[in-house]
Amino acid sequence: MGVEKVHQKINLKQISGLFCIDFPAVNPQTHSQKETILFNDNTMTKDHNQLKKVVIVGGGFAGVNFARHLDAKYFDITIIDKLNYHQFQPLFYQVATSQIEPSSISFPLRYIFRHQKHIKIRLTEVQDVDLANNCIHTRIGPFQYDFLVLALGCKTNFFGNKLLSRYAFSLKTTFEAISIRNHILQVFEDVITSPEAEKAALLNIVIVGGGPTGVELAGAFAEIKKNILPKDYHRIDFSRLNIILIEGSADTLSNMSGNARKYSRKYLQNLGVNVITNTFVKSYDGEILLLNQGDPIKTKSVIWAAGVIANTLTGIPESCIAHANRIRVDRYNLMQGSENVYVIGDQAWMETPNYPRAHPQVANVAINQAKNLAKNLERKILGKPLKVYEYKDFGTMATIGKNKAVVDLPFVRLHGFSAWAIWMFLHLMLILSVRNKLIIFINWAWAYVTKNSALRIILKGDQPAES
Ligand SMILES: Cc1cc2nc3c(=O)[nH]c(=O)nc-3n(C[C@H](O)[C@H](O)[C@H](O)COP(=O)(O)OP(=O)(O)OC[C@H]3O[C@@H](n4cnc5c(N)ncnc54)[C@H](O)[C@@H]3O)c2cc1C
Repeated sequence: MGVEKVHQKINLKQISGLFCIDFPAVNPQTHSQKETILFNDNTMTKDHNQLKKVVIVGGGFAGVNFARHLDAKYFDITIIDKLNYHQFQPLFYQVATSQIEPSSISFPLRYIFRHQKHIKIRLTEVQDVDLANNCIHTRIGPFQYDFLVLALGCKTNFFGNKLLSRYAFSLKTTFEAISIRNHILQVFEDVITSPEAEKAALLNIVIVGGGPTGVELAGAFAEIKKNILPKDYHRIDFSRLNIILIEGSADTLSNMSGNARKYSRKYLQNLGVNVITNTFVKSYDGEILLLNQGDPIKTKSVIWAAGVIANTLTGIPESCIAHANRIRVDRYNLMQGSENVYVIGDQAWMETPNYPRAHPQVANVAINQAKNLAKNLERKILGKPLKVYEYKDFGTMATIGKNKAVVDLPFVRLHGFSAWAIWMFLHLMLILSVRNKLIIFINWAWAYVTKNSALRIILKGDQPAES
């Protein structure tokens, strides 16, 4: 079984440069450690006590890949996350638009590491770090470390606008994706029963931010408006449903090529999305969205995809904090001024000659910084020279509804169906576990052929249905 999985990793690596996301690989070296290390916390052997304690905070792309590549011969590994699962964020928008189930893109950490029994998993929120005493504090008590690896990722940035953070939805966790799905489906239930005067606000769905998340979300909403929702809600006139995408700069996908910018806008407009550029949101009170120009928009649904800010912990020195809360690290991901605290992934701010404003916050960077650091820690223990992290940009892509996508590869720009086929194939291949790949493939194939999916469930507690 282990051999088969290692083969799968190699093959997928050849085709998955855009993300470089790995698959579960059982490290045979790790398994041989079973003889010398008892994995029960209460029965540590002498050998175990001699291992360097590595505490990893965050079970995202960076934390999981770091733990997976760290050699159990030298390290006692604990991974801490406030969630008990790893999230495949690139497909959140499909959960939010009822196209796939949340369980297909959420992977329990205990399942991921089921074959690496030496890795301890703790479910708790880390609150602060005591650098002087090599200790972090959590809700379930303190954890001592020899090496601390911070991989806390990002959260949505509302730029201090309290009203927006209170009333707008965001798409940074599986839970938030489910919340959007619940809300949007409830909105259509409300359209049926609301007085005419209230329908307009219900029928305006506004997405703020024309980056990949906003573009993919707007495209997916436009697609379900056309092909899926009318099958469920016979009494709603869906020509009155407005999907509005607001972007502050002049273009959608402004970080991609001119080709991607041009075609993403064109595809969205062809799908009926109202794309408003060069416009900023000023405020939102749950009813009215105010812009810096143009008429206010009455809406019950605002989804904020206009920025992220790194998660941080109390105890990190102010001098280490860079743009958007990211933590300054050197080329080895070592936190500025520290000897044993490392930061990887979205949370790290590493300046290099090619990336003087740090790397983009994408999965490729998180995964490869994690792998480089895992090897470097081993080199450090063995007294070997360390290797700097160098980002290899394999390209970026975004999909816009069915059959359309834009892909920027280092030497070629693609758009349309071929780009969409690449997008579909890579995302499918990159989903963890064969089971989830199959489930998603069947969902996608079913939706493609029937122009339908059967996932439109409003998940609620036991409050009354009308609330
Ligand atoms: C909607 C969306 C779409 C995206 N699409 C793409 C894409 O198409 N391609 C691409 O390359 N990238 C994409 N990204 C970006 C990519 O997902 C991130 O770059 C990547 O997840 C970063 O990995 P990370 O490990 O640094 O952080 P994360 O994956 O965010 O993991 C951070 C982990 O830390 C945990 N955590 C945070 N704070 C604490 C705490 N105090 N205590 C304990 N645990 C904590 C969190 O629960 C989480 O599990 C997308 C992101 C989003 C939100």
